[in-house]
Amino acid sequence: MNSVFIGIGSNLSDPKIQVTKAVTAIAQVSTITISKVSSLYVSKPMGPQDQPDYVNAVIEINTALTPIALLDQLQAIENTAGRVRKDNRWGARILDLDILLFNQDIINEERLVVPHYGMKLREFVLLPLAEIAPNLILPDGDVLLELSNKIKRNALEKQGKIAWH
Ligand code: ATP
Ligand code: MG
Ligand code: MG
Repeated sequence: MNSVFIGIGSNLSDPKIQVTKAVTAIAQVSTITISKVSSLYVSKPMGPQDQPDYVNAVIEINTALTPIALLDQLQAIENTAGRVRKDNRWGARILDLDILLFNQDIINEERLVVPHYGMKLREFVLLPLAEIAPNLILPDGDVLLELSNKIKRNALEKQGKIAWH
């Protein structure tokens, strides 16, 4: 069974509801079991600032799916939520589901790079991840708690539990 960490983000159409619905949708995939769920976090946008604040969370799942089959499932959930892919990078989105870590695997495929290339530089990934996996060590040997302690803070705020079912 694979242990996988997924980063969830939304800043449109009531983002807290979008994140909650996304966790519920992932839980409903028969080949996926949710093992840990972080709190909700509110953060300022990365890149273009003329967009609403983000709501983020990180979950751990267990699955026998291959990395690409899991990506297909997550992209289907993004699409069902109404995600429209635009050219502008880091623009507003209704739902983003990124594979942060897949066991300790290193994957470099056209559709999938794991560990996620930006995770070590993103407060809204490191803090929720450290909440649910405080002892994690990344495949390159970096200690998660050290990364999360030294990340540049950008007004990330913890905002309660996720009411998924
Ligand atoms: P960022 O990747 O900087 O967080 P983003 O999440 O907004 O930006 P998307 O538009 O969601 O980017 O994804 C663009 C492509 O990234 C996807 O089509 C997917 O194939 C690819 N991708 C590569 N690695 C990953 C990963 N670890 N998790 C999810 N998608 C990935
Ligand atoms: Mg992303
Ligand atoms: Mg993405």
